[in-house]
Amino acid sequence: MAETRKGFLIDTTRCIGCRSCQVACKQWNKLEADKTANQGSFENPRDLTPNLYNRIRFVEQADSGSVKWLFMNERCMHCGDAGCMKVCPSPGALYRTKEGIVAFNREKCISCKYCVSACPFNIPRYGTDDKVSKCNLCGDRVAGGMPPACAKACPTQSIQFGNRAELVARAKAAKKSIYGESDLMGLGVVYALEGKPEEYGLPAKPSIPVSIFLWKDVIKPLGILGFWGSVGAMLLHYVTIGPKKLDDETNNKEESHE
Ligand code: SF4
Ligand code: SF4
Ligand code: SF4
Repeated sequence: MAETRKGFLIDTTRCIGCRSCQVACKQWNKLEADKTANQGSFENPRDLTPNLYNRIRFVEQADSGSVKWLFMNERCMHCGDAGCMKVCPSPGALYRTKEGIVAFNREKCISCKYCVSACPFNIPRYGTDDKVSKCNLCGDRVAGGMPPACAKACPTQSIQFGNRAELVARAKAAKKSIYGESDLMGLGVVYALEGKPEEYGLPAKPSIPVSIFLWKDVIKPLGILGFWGSVGAMLLHYVTIGPKKLDDETNNKEESHE
């Protein structure tokens, strides 16, 4: 996957908070408008929704008696080690494309919502159809050789799309402070930050919850082992002792009636 893996470099120092990326995503993916209210901030909407795959988080900071903003594009990270895929019990509901995209198929989603608790970034949302919803990295555009809608719309090239390894190398050459290079086997969305990740609302060391490992790597395999162990024991009984006889059963019933 390494050579073909596509991804984003989001250079937060270039973002001007215009939200063209939000609008372009809605337009390309035919996502309905969300009803919002003015809450005294330019940040709008205040959270991702089933109809909003990416949004700009406005982080206000005091700056010598004035206010400055950090802008952070929030979206699915297309993790190399994706907790959502690890925990999903429905094959094909969440899957990886050859470009490294973590895509989803609503028809195969069984609405269990396990992926929500397994995501280190709190990304998956559920719509009125109760099916998973998140950034699909414009898989249809990428497969057709086009850049994702958000990257194409960004007027400052804050969102750059391409070969992930090349984007990381470019950011390093420019001495940027990179987030996501190797976390979770490398995020598909790598950020160039001006400050600490926590200032942008990003976890410093993103990780999949331990309970997910226990379920996936210990409890589930033990359950499967137990199931096949029972099947094996039944087969062994059948081969060595043979099937239970009808006469035996009838005799037993008669004895119990007496
Ligand atoms: S950010 Fe969350 S939803 Fe996206 S791939 Fe990673 S674990 Fe899955
Ligand atoms: S890659 Fe496509 S689906 Fe994902 S946020 Fe950008 S425009 Fe939306
Ligand atoms: S389009 Fe580019 S500059 Fe505008 S808000 Fe999105 S990332 Fe920032």
